[in-house]
Amino acid sequence: MSTPPYTGRLAPSPTGLLHLGHARTFFIAHQRARAANGTLYLRDEDLDPQRSRPNFSIAMREDLLWLGLTWDAELRQSDRLPLYLAALHQLLAAGLAYPCSCSRRDLALSAHAPHEDPAAESDDELLYNNRCRPTGPVANLSGPAADLSNARRPRRTYRFRTPDHTPISFTDLHAGPQTFTTSTDFGDFLIWRKPLTSNPSDIGLPSYQLACVVDDALTHITEVVRGRDLLKSTARQILLQRALGYSTPTYFHCDLMRDSDGLRLAKRHDALALRTLRANGLSPADILAMF
Ligand code: GLU
Repeated sequence: MSTPPYTGRLAPSPTGLLHLGHARTFFIAHQRARAANGTLYLRDEDLDPQRSRPNFSIAMREDLLWLGLTWDAELRQSDRLPLYLAALHQLLAAGLAYPCSCSRRDLALSAHAPHEDPAAESDDELLYNNRCRPTGPVANLSGPAADLSNARRPRRTYRFRTPDHTPISFTDLHAGPQTFTTSTDFGDFLIWRKPLTSNPSDIGLPSYQLACVVDDALTHITEVVRGRDLLKSTARQILLQRALGYSTPTYFHCDLMRDSDGLRLAKRHDALALRTLRANGLSPADILAMF
């Protein structure tokens, strides 16, 4: 069997200005794609209705181009809702997803933080206590089949049903061998968020995990290059790929950049935003020299 051609992606979320940390990850992704003579997508991950802003989408494109990074095709997640909905239906039909009616407050009171390596850097989802998880076998056809009709236009939150106490292993091309175990490192995770309005045309939104897996598969991504804070998400995404019948790409999780206090760079570090550095007279070459 011949190896599929290298296909990678830059997947910024337009929730703030790109800073040095993003630039470094995207630079590495770009370099790896170009070295492999591959194709690179720019995927605008604009699904967070509260934090995504069109101005940030424009700014991130400008900043990437200023830095000399180019891409071959673009997609925007907010254009792709039917694809994510089809994946939700497929998981429901397989008995691998279920509706969850827990409020944020329920979750805060009952869910607990996953067993976490203190050096871990993730902004991670809490371990779910399985309150809404259906009892009985996974392939309980009457439950999922009945729910499927409700999910045509979802008005609820849905979770992925993870197998209990199951290690998920992969070898990261940069961070080395990784294993995360369900029920300890992460539990049944969100795949669909309920609508925030009562407008009947509002069907809510896929979670980052579901949208990412669907897009990576449908755009035939062969290698995912992203920040190390998403290592544990990779284990969740591998489970979703298996459940949806997708293949698993290779992964390269880059180290995170830190500020002078040792804190991970986040979008709130405006002083390290690419445009601030640019306004202060730094050239793209000066930025690249910092990596
Ligand atoms: N949109 C995510 C971010 O800005 C990256 C997701 C990914 O690369 O899978 O951190």
